[in-house]
Amino acid sequence: MDIFAHGIYNIALQKTLRKDKQKWKKILEAFWWGIMPDLLAFGAPLLVAIFLGSLDHHALVNGTDLSALVYPFTHSLVIFGAVFLILSLLLKKWYLPMLGWGFHILMDIPFHTPNFFPTPFLFPVSSYTLPFGIYWGTPAVWIGLWAIVIIWLLILIYRSKYYEQN
Ligand SMILES: [Zn+2]
Repeated sequence: MDIFAHGIYNIALQKTLRKDKQKWKKILEAFWWGIMPDLLAFGAPLLVAIFLGSLDHHALVNGTDLSALVYPFTHSLVIFGAVFLILSLLLKKWYLPMLGWGFHILMDIPFHTPNFFPTPFLFPVSSYTLPFGIYWGTPAVWIGLWAIVIIWLLILIYRSKYYEQN
């Protein structure tokens, strides 16, 4: 799924979980946890590859190889679950914004094809990935996913307006 949509989906999810008015900081926090799995897997390796490549032009530094290394860590429900539990224990309350990380993985599972970064959601316990999937960039899927989150946000805005008036 496109990274931006992931961020918006978690904003909608967090707004659904908490009915109180949220400040910009909370909205940005939700956006960050929605995009983090792809930002770390694709954005950071790209920067590292550009940096290392500029130091040594003979070294073959490939951002895609680094992504393949990082991707399982940020796209595993096992790792997400462990980090979520540990952090929630440390904070002594459920750290809800991080649920966007788990939600990101759940949405990637059906919308990645087996031949391009299928979601290893059981890593490191198992390297199993779904043998099928619909590419998120397929126009009907892409438009559908954006339509759903826009309608979801509109309902939330309507709901908050309704609560303000009553
Ligand atoms: Zn992803």
